[in-house]
Amino acid sequence: MLNDLYQEVIIDHSRRPRNFRSMDDATRRVEGYNPLCGDKLALYVRMDQDVVADISFVGSGCAISTASASLMTESVKGKTRAEAEAILERFHDLLTKDRPAAGGLGKLAAFSGVREFPARVKCATLAWHTLRSALEGSSEVVSTE
Ligand code: ZN
Repeated sequence: MLNDLYQEVIIDHSRRPRNFRSMDDATRRVEGYNPLCGDKLALYVRMDQDVVADISFVGSGCAISTASASLMTESVKGKTRAEAEAILERFHDLLTKDRPAAGGLGKLAAFSGVREFPARVKCATLAWHTLRSALEGSSEVVSTE
């Protein structure tokens, strides 16, 4: 079970999360919290017009939440808001739909196994809910509950 769930890419990103830093010149900062597991993160986004020019996060959480946040920042950096939202929708479908289309998700497809563990889905989607809020320009704290 653990081998299925914690695939290599998830282990790698949880141990060495990418874009794991705060950002002084962020245009948006949103906090996310998953009380079920205790995952917490602060997401920093610097928008340049309609483009996610830079994105980073800090926080503490389980391997899945950390890896998901790390891969999320890699996936949407340099993308337009619309492109980032499209990736977000596909990732959400991957974790919540019975027959998701995993194509085009690249490394994010590693999270497809998480669908079998409903309690962990919120760990995997926390960073993405927080991203949605940041893209919408909100600065409220995002909770998965
Ligand atoms: Zn978690």
